[in-house]
Amino acid sequence: ASARIDAAYFESYSTFDIHREMLGDKPRTEAYRDALEANPSLIKGARVLDVGCGSGILSMFAALGGAASVVGLDASERIAGFARKNVAANGLDRESGGPVSIVTGRVEQVADIGSEQVDVIVSEWMGYALLFETMLDSVLAARDRWLRPGGAVLPDVATVMVAGGSDAAMGLDFWEDVYGFSMRPMADELRAAAPGRVIVREVPASALVTAAAEAHRMDLAAMAPSGQDFTAEVVLAAAQAGECSCVVVWFDAEFSARFCRERPVRLSTAPDAAPTHWMQAVLPLRAPVALEAGARLACRLSMARSPARHRALDVSLEYGAAGGAPGAREAVSFSMEV
Ligand code: SAH
Repeated sequence: ASARIDAAYFESYSTFDIHREMLGDKPRTEAYRDALEANPSLIKGARVLDVGCGSGILSMFAALGGAASVVGLDASERIAGFARKNVAANGLDRESGGPVSIVTGRVEQVADIGSEQVDVIVSEWMGYALLFETMLDSVLAARDRWLRPGGAVLPDVATVMVAGGSDAAMGLDFWEDVYGFSMRPMADELRAAAPGRVIVREVPASALVTAAAEAHRMDLAAMAPSGQDFTAEVVLAAAQAGECSCVVVWFDAEFSARFCRERPVRLSTAPDAAPTHWMQAVLPLRAPVALEAGARLACRLSMARSPARHRALDVSLEYGAAGGAPGAREAVSFSMEV
């Protein structure tokens, strides 16, 4: 079953549409460009491995940043073929005297990348809510196999962030005023069906009803694969009175000054940051919770790779008034499948 799931996964990267969507995401792509092109002390003369090179964009940024050698690797045969052509079309391939070569294959299985070690691993592996459908395992496997001790992983820090959201975060406010009519029965129907399903949508910053809190932080240079599975206790504080209908999840990825000395970069997918193709992930509560000004909602959020289903993520959320009896907490669980 897992071989079939992987085949479908790599097949999904063979179409141009998905690459067009990623390349058209400027906050995403420019963060990588700045990290690779504006940090000469890291990239100039470096051996770089681009894990999951797709169209070849990050390999080409690394070449422009002055890398001595760049290996772009992708398991999707079709897109790897086009990465090779794209690199050649820009004169950055080895035959043209450039630094880039493209290898087709899974990073876990490739036996030869032209050197025994690399100085930098770059990868765009992040999924919705950071960890949905992620290829982080593959990036960590590449790190452990090919990165020299003390080498850099780009990005090097990733954090999962959460905040409470209103009906508007779920898009239910639409039904409140439809050409002047209330269609609340339809909002109520949608709300009743919502728990258990993650909604990926663009949440307006005005739809957050609590401050944001960090649920999980990962150091990509040091973490073990098990470090991506977490259970976090967070307390969400409401500045003003309001109703909390959902928990909104997003992530930040940092190219920190540890490796990017000249130009550290932060890619934020927060509701108040420039929109990205990741949008935000909304976890609906069982029913809205009324919060007084200054009230605090305690949440226990866990996200873990499913032991049973390959590439699936099990998400669960428990919540209740901070300081309230544990028995008074509500619980809801979600599954994210490929
Ligand atoms: N780096 C490109 C593409 C990112 S999408 C960009 O930034 O635009 C992720 C890519 O990683 C996909 O093309 C997918 O086929 C590839 N990929 C995922 N897991 C992989 C693995 N284990 N080995 C090789 N390639 C992988």
